Amino acid sequence: MKKIIEDILALQEKDMRIRGLKMRLAMIPTEKAKLNATLEQEKNSLKAQRESLSKTEMEMKQKESAINQVNEEIKKLQNQTVLIKKNDEYQAMLKEIESRKGKISDIETEIIMLIDKKEALAAEFKAYEKTFGDREKSIQAELKELTQLEGDLKNEIISQTNSRAPLEAVVPKDNLGLYTRILNTGKGEPLGKVLQGITCSNCHLKLTPQTLTLTKRGDLAICDNCSRMLYMPDEEMK
Ligand SMILES: [Zn+2]
Repeated sequence: MKKIIEDILALQEKDMRIRGLKMRLAMIPTEKAKLNATLEQEKNSLKAQRESLSKTEMEMKQKESAINQVNEEIKKLQNQTVLIKKNDEYQAMLKEIESRKGKISDIETEIIMLIDKKEALAAEFKAYEKTFGDREKSIQAELKELTQLEGDLKNEIISQTNSRAPLEAVVPKDNLGLYTRILNTGKGEPLGKVLQGITCSNCHLKLTPQTLTLTKRGDLAICDNCSRMLYMPDEEMK
């Protein structure tokens, strides 16, 4: 293989490495944002469960104080019955008291239902709280890893970029101009190869006889279709 091709391949290898590192680095903010959004969502779920539990506890307290209030009313009515002389009035009063007792019984039934609800919610909350704790820890660890990776990638990009200059310096200006233009499109490799002795590795189309003749001599050529630089790998020369 001619030196010029070796030199461009060495530069290209370096540039593909740098491109890969930059692509990986560019993905990190989205990955972090996703993790943070997940964490936020799970925090909100936990909060909603806690609120639902305390709402139920509050309802229970309200029902209990409603019972106390009705009991007070019953006591007052019972005290009044002592003063009643007429039988029909007395019967009416007893009815009043009975109706209030019935009301208490209804509220007690409601309280029993709330106790069941509260127990179920408390168990659910406790389980979720534990899961959430584990999830939070694992998300924090992932975020920490991403931050570490971000730093490592930045350092590696600097180091790779620093060692690129000598590789670029040995490539002739003309070739470097074309190479750089293709590289800057950000798509594929500037220097492709001839595959199976006949097609371009970039666009996969058949190459013209003139192009193939050049590459068979070990020279650089340009694909007539996609305008990439091309070379014939040694193993295809035989
Ligand atoms: Zn091509």
